[in-house]
Amino acid sequence: MTKKLFWKDPYLTECKAMVTSMEGNKVKLDQTIFYAFSGGQESDEGTINGIKVVNAVKQGEKENIIDIEYELEKVPDFKVGDEVEVKIDKEKRDKLRRLHSAAHIVYYFVTSSLGRLRIIGSNIASEKARFDFLYNKPISDLLPMIEEQVNPFLAEGHEIITEPDEKNPDMRWWRCYEWSMPCGGTHVKNTKEIGKIRLKRKNIGADKERIEIYLE
Ligand SMILES: [Zn+2]
Repeated sequence: MTKKLFWKDPYLTECKAMVTSMEGNKVKLDQTIFYAFSGGQESDEGTINGIKVVNAVKQGEKENIIDIEYELEKVPDFKVGDEVEVKIDKEKRDKLRRLHSAAHIVYYFVTSSLGRLRIIGSNIASEKARFDFLYNKPISDLLPMIEEQVNPFLAEGHEIITEPDEKNPDMRWWRCYEWSMPCGGTHVKNTKEIGKIRLKRKNIGADKERIEIYLE
């Protein structure tokens, strides 16, 4: 099992690790800071011993991340048991942390206006986050009001806690203010770090709404 350092400290951008398995250009490590696509959050970008990681694949159900396999741009010259250096793109992680936390908070403010939502998709990338839900009329008019609620809330500096489930250590919880939801993503420690956000609606078909979240 890969030890997920990005859960304990989502601000780390470099770490040492030991190679635990290798198959051609596919590598597993004993520990890692390099997130693999899960729960809608994109993978990090980065290198292992200077070789670019072209794909990071997690093994585990839903938001759980048990193991991660990294596909490298070329077959590396290291072997199982060697110590390697893992580096990730700092700016991309910074945006993913802020946008992922922002997406959760926007979700709660939207549900406090519209009631419980049936979420049908979500994605956290470095340029924007989004979530899609079933709703039978356009929500454009609502968004300026949500922005006016979310931005002061972010500026108030609420603490964000991410922690393992008591019974299942591979399942994680995100908690902030009076909210909590299962999430294995990487998050900021305080809403202040997010700064200001901007919201956009996108039409994705009948009875479906998409909210896009951008950092200012
Ligand atoms: Zn999440």
